[in-house]
Amino acid sequence: PQPVSFDATALINKAILLTKENSLAKAVTFSFDENTPHLITADRSHFLQVVLNLLKNAVEATAHQEDGKIEITFENHDSDYDIIHIRNNGLPIPKEVAAQIFIPFFTTKEQGTGIGLSISRYIMRMHGGTITLQSKAEYTLFSLYFPRK
Ligand code: ADP
Ligand code: MG
Repeated sequence: PQPVSFDATALINKAILLTKENSLAKAVTFSFDENTPHLITADRSHFLQVVLNLLKNAVEATAHQEDGKIEITFENHDSDYDIIHIRNNGLPIPKEVAAQIFIPFFTTKEQGTGIGLSISRYIMRMHGGTITLQSKAEYTLFSLYFPRK
């Protein structure tokens, strides 16, 4: 990766727009504060790829429900990492599934490839960062940890 320090707001907006072109996404509400800076240090195209992977999964997880919601937020008060959170409502991920989602080619979808999350984890590790999953009764949350530079 070629990390640069930049405001990711425009790229996240672009990822949301690209995701919305997918017809499944029309049933889903996106929430993102485009009026505050989202300063991170990352390779721009790798960053876009990871956000697109996570948004696609979030859409696929929520599009079937009536009040599908995807929320993107930013956390910059950790001393070591700038963190992007991507949260969707919907059913919790079963423990056996959660244990495998970052494994290459693991998928629970009929038409799935199982590469989105494994590539995303690889990209985050190449940045010296990480990706985490929290699955709660009310929501699923993926967090991207970008080391502070
Ligand atoms: P694919 O989307 O092709 O299945 P991914 O690597 O993107 O491959 O995701 C792997 C698996 O992780 C998915 O099949 C699904 O079971 C689970 N998963 C990923 N994101 C979510 C999410 N937001 N909500 C529920 N399950 C998810
Ligand atoms: Mg996927």
